[in-house]
Amino acid sequence: MVVETKYYDILGVNPNASDSELKKAYRKKALMYHPDKNPDAGEQFKEISHAYEVLSDSQKRAIYDQYGEKGLNGAAGEGMGGLDPNDLFAQFFGGGGMFGGGGGRRGPSGPRRGRDMAHALKVSLEDLYKGKTSKLQVTKSVICPGCDGKGGEEGAVTKCGQCHGRGVEVVIRQMGPMVQQIQQQCRKCNGEGEEIDARYKCKQCNGQKTISERKQLEVHIDRGMKDGQKIVFQGEADQQPGVVPGDIVIVIEEKKHPKFKRSGDDLHYEAEIDLVTALAGGNMHIKHLDNRVLDVAILPGEVIKPGEIKVIEGQGMPSHRHHNMGNMFVKFTVRFPESNWTSEENIKKLEQILPPRESLAKIPKGTTQEEVVLSAVDLHHKKDMRDSDDAMDDDYEDSHHHQGPGVQCAQQ
Ligand SMILES: [Zn+2]
Ligand SMILES: [Zn+2]
Repeated sequence: MVVETKYYDILGVNPNASDSELKKAYRKKALMYHPDKNPDAGEQFKEISHAYEVLSDSQKRAIYDQYGEKGLNGAAGEGMGGLDPNDLFAQFFGGGGMFGGGGGRRGPSGPRRGRDMAHALKVSLEDLYKGKTSKLQVTKSVICPGCDGKGGEEGAVTKCGQCHGRGVEVVIRQMGPMVQQIQQQCRKCNGEGEEIDARYKCKQCNGQKTISERKQLEVHIDRGMKDGQKIVFQGEADQQPGVVPGDIVIVIEEKKHPKFKRSGDDLHYEAEIDLVTALAGGNMHIKHLDNRVLDVAILPGEVIKPGEIKVIEGQGMPSHRHHNMGNMFVKFTVRFPESNWTSEENIKKLEQILPPRESLAKIPKGTTQEEVVLSAVDLHHKKDMRDSDDAMDDDYEDSHHHQGPGVQCAQQ
């Protein structure tokens, strides 16, 4: 619903035209009526530029749709107060950003726009996978229905006598020899610019013009939405008389998942399998985010190495607004048996079954050979390892003199 269509008519578009339709329409008209080409069409060129300046700015467009031209300027006739039409033309065709660059002077804008209200909404990975509708309770100010936001009965609201409706007053302050003039919020009306006769104050809002209201919002979390993605409820933020309400912005916050890590549309999973499955094949199960169980077959003869990553195609996250799915990457950890897990006999058999040992390279003649033994690392050794690391960093020379037992000197 728009109150007037003049600007849309000037550009020759529908009031529900999209940004790109507006852009196209402006481009066509501006070229047609540019003074270089069409010296007699100066006024039209200005009008076209102004209409586009307003409609291409979502904030100004909202004000215009709701309040018309007078909402933008206060008085009619000041309508050309915004950007210089030639500046606009240059910005548009010069390839620079649209208006956002801050280069253009902005005209006085009518009703201001209220602040947006942001809410973080924590969503589990399961819900982002399946999609969900969440109900969110918000408390917001709405225009008091008892007085339509006037604060009192008709005629009860008058201009503040102290500040003459300006909401600010000038006070003179003496600081030593200096006299300072400062502007501050009017103390009598708290910057409202108005006073309400106590006898005729609205009972419902006690003259505050707004009341607090609880509202339930239905937040549709689409399949595949991502952390940081925003869901906007236009114009649902706090209402105030004479102010275009801002938006309620819901920001999705993805909760950490104990099993899956997400990266874009892909999922990463860490699976632990036993040694026999890694070597001889078998099955493993992955419980997906929608409770399906993926039965993963590792074929006999397919060897899974520790740290190896495989992919299960199409089992990642749904791609938001595209009809495809990401992939699931599975990183394997192989669980080895403990020491002394089987008989010597069986170990002999293993030697026959597994690929043969690699033979060691020959030690050149004249090289000293020494047999050493591997022991388990205990706390004492760990401390030594740390000490020698530090010593290497701090003072290499010194570390040569106190080597612990079992540490071989790598001198050449
Ligand atoms: Zn005042
Ligand atoms: Zn009221």
